[in-house]
Amino acid sequence: MSIEEALATLGPAPRLGYVEGGFDRAALRRREPDLFEALARDPACRGYALCGERVLLAIEGETFSPLFTPAALSSLPVTHSVFLGLDNGAARIAVGVDPASEEALKARDAVKLIDLRSIAIQGLVAPSHLAGLAEAKALLQWHVRHRFCANCGRLTRIAEAGWRRECEGCGAEHFPRTDPVVIMLALRGDRCLLGRGARFPAWSCLAGFVEPGESFEDAVRREVLEEAGIRCGKVSYFRSQPWPFPMSLMIGCFAEALSEELTVDHSELEDARWFSRDEVADMLLNRHPQGLQVPPPVAIAHHILRAFVEETAPVF
Ligand SMILES: [Zn+2]
Repeated sequence: MSIEEALATLGPAPRLGYVEGGFDRAALRRREPDLFEALARDPACRGYALCGERVLLAIEGETFSPLFTPAALSSLPVTHSVFLGLDNGAARIAVGVDPASEEALKARDAVKLIDLRSIAIQGLVAPSHLAGLAEAKALLQWHVRHRFCANCGRLTRIAEAGWRRECEGCGAEHFPRTDPVVIMLALRGDRCLLGRGARFPAWSCLAGFVEPGESFEDAVRREVLEEAGIRCGKVSYFRSQPWPFPMSLMIGCFAEALSEELTVDHSELEDARWFSRDEVADMLLNRHPQGLQVPPPVAIAHHILRAFVEETAPVF
Protein backbone atom coordinates (compact mmCIF):
# COMPACT_ATOMS: atom_id res chain seq x y z
CA MET A 1 0.00 0.00 0.00
CA SER A 2 1.42 3.40 -0.97
CA ILE A 3 1.77 6.16 1.59
CA GLU A 4 -1.11 8.07 -0.07
CA GLU A 5 -3.40 5.02 0.07
CA ALA A 6 -2.37 4.31 3.66
CA LEU A 7 -2.94 7.91 4.72
CA ALA A 8 -6.47 7.75 3.31
CA THR A 9 -7.16 5.03 5.90
CA LEU A 10 -6.45 7.53 8.69
CA GLY A 11 -9.88 9.04 8.06
CA PRO A 12 -10.94 12.53 9.12
CA ALA A 13 -8.68 14.39 11.52
CA PRO A 14 -9.41 13.45 15.16
CA ARG A 15 -10.45 16.08 17.68
CA LEU A 16 -7.69 18.08 19.27
CA GLY A 17 -8.00 17.42 23.00
CA TYR A 18 -9.05 20.12 25.50
CA VAL A 19 -10.19 22.49 22.73
CA GLU A 20 -13.61 21.65 21.35
CA GLY A 21 -16.74 22.02 23.45
CA GLY A 22 -15.52 24.94 25.54
CA PHE A 23 -18.10 26.84 27.58
CA ASP A 24 -19.51 30.34 27.11
CA ARG A 25 -17.47 31.86 29.93
CA ALA A 26 -20.28 34.32 30.77
CA ALA A 27 -17.74 36.56 32.51
CA LEU A 28 -20.36 39.11 33.61
CA ARG A 29 -21.89 36.53 35.96
CA ARG A 30 -18.62 36.20 37.91
CA ARG A 31 -19.46 39.42 39.80
CA GLU A 32 -22.97 38.36 40.78
CA PRO A 33 -23.31 38.52 44.57
CA ASP A 34 -24.00 35.11 46.16
CA LEU A 35 -23.54 33.41 42.78
CA PHE A 36 -22.79 29.97 44.23
CA GLU A 37 -25.82 30.09 46.56
CA ALA A 38 -28.02 30.87 43.55
CA LEU A 39 -26.41 28.10 41.49
CA ALA A 40 -26.98 25.60 44.31
CA ARG A 41 -30.73 26.12 43.74
CA ASP A 42 -30.43 26.08 39.92
CA PRO A 43 -31.75 22.68 38.70
CA ALA A 44 -29.65 22.90 35.50
CA CYS A 45 -26.35 23.59 37.27
CA ARG A 46 -23.73 20.82 37.27
CA GLY A 47 -20.07 20.77 38.19
CA TYR A 48 -16.75 18.96 38.09
CA ALA A 49 -14.81 17.87 41.18
CA LEU A 50 -11.03 17.67 41.23
CA CYS A 51 -8.85 16.33 44.01
CA GLY A 52 -5.30 17.55 43.41
CA GLU A 53 -4.31 16.27 39.96
CA ARG A 54 -7.23 13.86 39.75
CA VAL A 55 -10.79 14.16 38.45
CA LEU A 56 -13.76 12.55 40.19
CA LEU A 57 -15.94 10.49 37.83
CA ALA A 58 -19.35 9.01 38.63
CA ILE A 59 -19.56 5.37 37.56
CA GLU A 60 -22.71 4.91 35.49
CA GLY A 61 -22.81 1.24 34.49
CA GLU A 62 -20.12 0.77 31.83
CA THR A 63 -19.50 4.51 31.38
CA PHE A 64 -18.36 7.49 33.44
CA SER A 65 -19.71 10.99 33.96
CA PRO A 66 -17.60 13.86 35.29
CA LEU A 67 -20.65 16.01 36.16
CA PHE A 68 -22.25 16.16 39.60
CA THR A 69 -25.23 18.09 40.99
CA PRO A 70 -24.51 21.00 43.35
CA ALA A 71 -25.93 18.88 46.19
CA ALA A 72 -23.53 16.02 45.44
CA LEU A 73 -20.62 18.46 45.22
CA SER A 74 -21.52 20.07 48.54
CA SER A 75 -21.30 16.64 50.23
CA LEU A 76 -17.56 16.59 49.41
CA PRO A 77 -14.84 18.28 51.52
CA VAL A 78 -14.67 21.29 49.18
CA THR A 79 -11.75 23.70 49.56
CA HIS A 80 -12.68 26.18 46.79
CA SER A 81 -15.31 26.67 44.07
CA VAL A 82 -15.07 28.35 40.67
CA PHE A 83 -17.61 29.34 38.03
CA LEU A 84 -16.62 27.94 34.62
CA GLY A 85 -19.40 29.34 32.43
CA LEU A 86 -22.49 28.15 30.59
CA ASP A 87 -22.95 24.98 28.54
CA ASN A 88 -25.88 25.70 26.21
CA GLY A 89 -27.23 28.02 28.90
CA ALA A 90 -26.71 25.60 31.83
CA ALA A 91 -24.30 26.78 34.52
CA ARG A 92 -21.08 24.81 35.00
CA ILE A 93 -18.92 25.07 38.11
CA ALA A 94 -15.92 23.20 39.49
CA VAL A 95 -14.82 22.46 43.03
CA GLY A 96 -11.44 21.63 44.50
CA VAL A 97 -11.64 18.76 46.99
CA ASP A 98 -9.31 18.52 50.00
CA PRO A 99 -6.39 16.27 48.89
CA ALA A 100 -6.42 14.73 52.40
CA SER A 101 -9.68 12.99 51.41
CA GLU A 102 -8.13 11.24 48.37
CA GLU A 103 -7.92 7.79 49.95
CA ALA A 104 -11.48 8.02 51.27
CA LEU A 105 -12.75 9.00 47.81
CA LYS A 106 -10.86 6.14 46.18
CA ALA A 107 -12.58 3.73 48.56
CA ARG A 108 -16.06 4.83 47.47
CA ASP A 109 -17.96 2.40 45.24
CA ALA A 110 -19.82 4.71 42.89
CA VAL A 111 -16.93 6.96 41.88
CA LYS A 112 -13.51 6.74 40.27
CA LEU A 113 -10.63 9.15 40.89
CA ILE A 114 -8.26 9.37 37.92
CA ASP A 115 -5.88 11.87 36.29
CA LEU A 116 -7.06 14.00 33.36
CA ARG A 117 -4.36 12.73 30.98
CA SER A 118 -5.63 9.15 31.37
CA ILE A 119 -9.24 10.30 30.95
CA ALA A 120 -8.32 12.00 27.66
CA ILE A 121 -6.16 9.20 26.24
CA GLN A 122 -8.51 6.39 27.28
CA GLY A 123 -11.60 8.33 26.19
CA LEU A 124 -13.31 7.74 29.55
CA VAL A 125 -15.72 10.70 29.13
CA ALA A 126 -17.36 12.36 26.12
CA PRO A 127 -14.68 14.43 24.28
CA SER A 128 -16.86 17.53 24.72
CA HIS A 129 -15.99 17.47 28.46
CA LEU A 130 -12.24 17.83 27.94
CA ALA A 131 -12.24 21.61 27.36
CA GLY A 132 -14.32 22.21 30.51
CA LEU A 133 -12.16 19.84 32.55
CA ALA A 134 -9.03 21.62 31.28
CA GLU A 135 -10.49 24.98 32.33
CA ALA A 136 -11.44 23.55 35.73
CA LYS A 137 -8.08 21.89 36.36
CA ALA A 138 -5.95 24.88 35.33
CA LEU A 139 -8.06 27.35 37.32
CA LEU A 140 -8.40 25.23 40.48
CA GLN A 141 -4.66 24.45 40.47
CA TRP A 142 -3.81 28.13 40.09
CA HIS A 143 -5.66 28.86 43.34
CA VAL A 144 -3.82 26.07 45.17
CA ARG A 145 -0.47 27.57 44.09
CA HIS A 146 -1.34 31.22 44.72
CA ARG A 147 -2.57 31.33 48.30
CA PHE A 148 -0.04 33.99 49.23
CA CYS A 149 0.49 37.44 47.73
CA ALA A 150 3.48 37.65 45.38
CA ASN A 151 3.77 41.33 46.34
CA CYS A 152 3.75 41.26 50.17
CA GLY A 153 3.52 37.60 51.20
CA ARG A 154 0.20 37.89 53.08
CA LEU A 155 -2.73 35.56 52.54
CA THR A 156 -4.94 36.18 49.51
CA ARG A 157 -8.62 35.33 49.19
CA ILE A 158 -10.66 34.12 46.26
CA ALA A 159 -12.87 36.67 44.45
CA GLU A 160 -15.03 37.02 41.34
CA ALA A 161 -16.20 33.40 41.37
CA GLY A 162 -12.62 32.17 41.12
CA TRP A 163 -11.27 34.54 38.46
CA ARG A 164 -9.28 36.79 40.80
CA ARG A 165 -7.49 36.70 44.16
CA GLU A 166 -7.26 39.71 46.46
CA CYS A 167 -4.52 40.33 48.99
CA GLU A 168 -5.69 40.99 52.55
CA GLY A 169 -2.50 42.94 53.26
CA CYS A 170 -1.59 45.26 50.38
CA GLY A 171 -4.81 44.99 48.34
CA ALA A 172 -3.03 43.69 45.23
CA GLU A 173 -5.19 41.81 42.76
CA HIS A 174 -3.92 38.60 41.18
CA PHE A 175 -5.40 37.03 38.05
CA PRO A 176 -5.22 33.41 36.86
CA ARG A 177 -2.24 32.90 34.59
CA THR A 178 -1.53 30.61 31.72
CA ASP A 179 2.01 29.86 30.58
CA PRO A 180 2.73 30.02 26.83
CA VAL A 181 4.72 27.13 25.40
CA VAL A 182 5.80 27.03 21.75
CA ILE A 183 5.68 23.60 20.12
CA MET A 184 7.13 23.51 16.66
CA LEU A 185 8.02 21.34 13.72
CA ALA A 186 11.17 22.53 11.95
CA LEU A 187 11.02 21.67 8.24
CA ARG A 188 13.93 21.26 5.83
CA GLY A 189 12.81 20.29 2.33
CA ASP A 190 10.68 17.15 2.70
CA ARG A 191 12.06 16.30 6.14
CA CYS A 192 11.10 17.37 9.64
CA LEU A 193 12.96 17.48 12.94
CA LEU A 194 11.67 15.37 15.83
CA GLY A 195 13.04 14.82 19.31
CA ARG A 196 12.51 12.23 22.00
CA GLY A 197 12.56 12.97 25.72
CA ALA A 198 13.97 10.57 28.28
CA ARG A 199 10.59 10.06 29.95
CA PHE A 200 8.43 9.53 26.84
CA PRO A 201 8.70 6.79 24.22
CA ALA A 202 7.16 8.88 21.41
CA TRP A 203 9.07 11.05 18.93
CA SER A 204 7.55 14.50 18.95
CA CYS A 205 7.91 18.16 18.04
CA LEU A 206 10.40 20.23 20.04
CA ALA A 207 8.81 22.55 22.61
CA GLY A 208 9.69 25.07 25.25
CA PHE A 209 8.36 27.92 27.38
CA VAL A 210 8.18 31.41 25.92
CA GLU A 211 10.50 33.61 27.97
CA PRO A 212 9.74 37.14 29.22
CA GLY A 213 10.21 39.77 26.52
CA GLU A 214 10.12 37.22 23.71
CA SER A 215 7.81 36.80 20.70
CA PHE A 216 6.44 33.36 19.79
CA GLU A 217 8.59 33.44 16.65
CA ASP A 218 11.78 34.21 18.56
CA ALA A 219 10.93 31.52 21.15
CA VAL A 220 10.58 28.96 18.32
CA ARG A 221 13.93 29.94 16.82
CA ARG A 222 15.69 29.95 20.21
CA GLU A 223 14.31 26.57 21.35
CA VAL A 224 15.22 24.76 18.10
CA LEU A 225 18.73 26.24 18.25
CA GLU A 226 19.18 25.39 21.95
CA GLU A 227 17.80 21.86 21.79
CA ALA A 228 19.04 20.71 18.39
CA GLY A 229 21.59 23.27 17.16
CA ILE A 230 19.46 24.13 14.12
CA ARG A 231 19.01 27.72 12.97
CA CYS A 232 15.50 28.63 11.81
CA GLY A 233 14.21 31.45 9.59
CA LYS A 234 10.52 31.89 8.90
CA VAL A 235 7.99 30.77 11.51
CA SER A 236 4.28 30.29 10.88
CA TYR A 237 1.43 29.71 13.31
CA PHE A 238 -0.61 26.47 13.12
CA ARG A 239 -3.11 26.37 16.02
CA SER A 240 -3.09 26.38 19.81
CA GLN A 241 -4.21 24.08 22.61
CA PRO A 242 -4.77 24.56 26.34
CA TRP A 243 -2.54 22.09 28.17
CA PRO A 244 -3.59 22.07 31.84
CA PHE A 245 -0.47 20.34 33.21
CA PRO A 246 -0.53 22.48 35.21
CA MET A 247 -1.57 25.59 33.25
CA SER A 248 0.10 25.91 29.86
CA LEU A 249 -1.05 27.06 26.45
CA MET A 250 0.61 25.18 23.60
CA ILE A 251 1.25 27.38 20.55
CA GLY A 252 1.73 25.12 17.53
CA CYS A 253 4.10 26.43 14.82
CA PHE A 254 6.06 25.38 11.77
CA ALA A 255 9.59 26.70 11.29
CA GLU A 256 11.89 26.95 8.29
CA ALA A 257 15.15 25.19 9.16
CA LEU A 258 18.19 26.93 7.67
CA SER A 259 20.76 24.31 8.65
CA GLU A 260 20.90 20.49 8.91
CA GLU A 261 23.70 19.41 11.21
CA LEU A 262 22.32 18.51 14.61
CA THR A 263 23.88 19.33 17.96
CA VAL A 264 21.52 17.72 20.48
CA ASP A 265 21.28 19.14 24.00
CA HIS A 266 21.10 15.90 25.96
CA SER A 267 19.98 17.67 29.11
CA GLU A 268 16.75 18.46 27.22
CA LEU A 269 16.41 15.53 24.81
CA GLU A 270 17.39 11.87 24.73
CA ASP A 271 17.79 12.16 20.96
CA ALA A 272 16.76 14.21 17.90
CA ARG A 273 16.94 13.51 14.18
CA TRP A 274 15.45 14.28 10.78
CA PHE A 275 12.48 12.22 9.57
CA SER A 276 11.12 11.89 6.03
CA ARG A 277 7.45 12.43 5.29
CA ASP A 278 7.03 8.70 4.55
CA GLU A 279 8.59 7.74 7.86
CA VAL A 280 6.31 10.07 9.85
CA ALA A 281 3.34 8.72 7.90
CA ASP A 282 4.31 5.19 8.99
CA MET A 283 4.49 6.37 12.60
CA LEU A 284 1.03 7.99 12.39
CA LEU A 285 -0.25 4.72 10.89
CA ASN A 286 1.41 2.67 13.67
CA ARG A 287 3.33 0.64 11.11
CA HIS A 288 6.88 1.97 11.48
CA PRO A 289 9.38 -0.91 10.93
CA GLN A 290 11.23 -0.11 14.20
CA GLY A 291 7.98 0.54 16.07
CA LEU A 292 8.69 4.26 16.47
CA GLN A 293 5.70 6.19 17.82
CA VAL A 294 4.26 9.70 17.70
CA PRO A 295 2.07 11.35 20.40
CA PRO A 296 -1.64 10.39 20.53
CA PRO A 297 -4.39 12.43 18.79
CA VAL A 298 -5.26 14.25 22.03
CA ALA A 299 -1.97 16.17 21.73
CA ILE A 300 -1.34 19.04 19.31
CA ALA A 301 1.95 17.43 18.19
CA HIS A 302 -0.07 14.66 16.52
CA HIS A 303 -2.02 17.27 14.54
CA ILE A 304 1.12 19.17 13.56
CA LEU A 305 2.66 15.93 12.24
CA ARG A 306 -0.52 15.03 10.41
CA ALA A 307 -0.52 18.43 8.68
CA PHE A 308 3.09 17.73 7.65
CA VAL A 309 2.37 14.32 6.09
CA GLU A 310 -0.87 15.51 4.48
CA GLU A 311 1.08 18.43 3.00
CA THR A 312 -1.11 21.13 4.49
CA ALA A 313 1.91 22.52 6.38
CA PRO A 314 3.48 25.65 4.87
CA VAL A 315 6.19 25.27 2.24
CA PHE A 316 8.96 27.71 3.18
ZN1 LIG B 1 -0.17 41.71 49.19
